[in-house]
Amino acid sequence: MSQSGSYIRIDNVSRRYGAFSALDGVSLDIAKEEFIAILGPSGSGKSTLLRLIAGLDRPTEGRIHFEGQDVTSLPPHKRGIGMVFQEFLLFPHRTVRENLAFPLRMRREPKEVIEERLEWVAGVLSLTKLLDRYPSQLSGGQQQRVALGRGLVARPTLLLLDEPLANLDRELRQEMEIEIRRYQKQLGIPFIYVTHNQEEALSMSDRIAVIHNGRLEALGERQSIYDHPPTPFVARFVGKSSKFRGIVSADGTTVSLQSHDFQFALPAGSAFKAGVSVDIFVKNERFDLASKAEGSAGIICTIADVVLRGPFLEYVLETDRGDTVIAVKPKRNDPLPVGEKVLLSWSPADCNVFKAED
Ligand code: ADP
Ligand code: MG
Repeated sequence: MSQSGSYIRIDNVSRRYGAFSALDGVSLDIAKEEFIAILGPSGSGKSTLLRLIAGLDRPTEGRIHFEGQDVTSLPPHKRGIGMVFQEFLLFPHRTVRENLAFPLRMRREPKEVIEERLEWVAGVLSLTKLLDRYPSQLSGGQQQRVALGRGLVARPTLLLLDEPLANLDRELRQEMEIEIRRYQKQLGIPFIYVTHNQEEALSMSDRIAVIHNGRLEALGERQSIYDHPPTPFVARFVGKSSKFRGIVSADGTTVSLQSHDFQFALPAGSAFKAGVSVDIFVKNERFDLASKAEGSAGIICTIADVVLRGPFLEYVLETDRGDTVIAVKPKRNDPLPVGEKVLLSWSPADCNVFKAED
């Protein structure tokens, strides 16, 4: 992306605490109207990055630009940002209206401006009929919308969200994921959404930036991050996969598993030297299961258990080496029976192969 095409440019930004790098040389361009998720495990540097974008903290090195303007030294209130944080709770003894108006009162906005903004944000978030209620008189989803409203009420040009749904139960969280994405598309401003939860990143964002140990580990469209993880870390962290160790054949086109009698073709475009040790990651829903009688190639497994997960079946498989592999399949009324022997395999396009890490 060119300098002019990027709305927000994070240029080689580092944040050190003494000798420790919380963030190490991160560069990232974010487009206007883009929903980007910053995904990484706890302690990877996500909040540090968000605080730098917000202006709540300064980078040790690197620059941050908004629309071509260097904002690295600009205080938060001059950056035109809105923020929604997990710990950013509503005031229980104030109405929705008062909660929403709070950020504007802090800025000493005139009454007419406050009225106009309140009307706007309540309209966008369908809160108009709830303005005189107290937080305890709202459902969890409505409370969440008010929290979002407080981030949006000053009409920011950018919204920063730090794990805002972390305390919600799964059902409400999934509802909110759809809503938040809809608001972002409707408003047409970038949302930068920090989360350790891959489901949230995948359901909402256009692109995902994966952060690991303070470094940008991967950046790409969500589908591509999921289907074609560029590193073993991303393959482990996004989606649920099983890992196998293998050796590349003499002609460099196939892999033989080390611990099982199964050989398969490398995905198109792979370039590994003969004899190299590789790690193969296969997403649990990408496995093929065939009955052993069909005589095709695969890892011989015994079905140890079948777990019903709503519309899916989770087959818990045990290989003859005693390893456990999970294969996920759409639910059917006649699941393969426990105790049955099956052949586990995959298509070259459905696996991700990396040079072995150790
Ligand atoms: P995340 O949000 O991904 O969970 P953070 O960005 O909050 O992670 O923190 C990244 C790392 O930086 C952590 O190891 C954390 O302990 C460290 N860290 C954050 N703030 C400070 C600070 N003020 N002083 C020292 N270390 C810090
Ligand atoms: Mg954090």
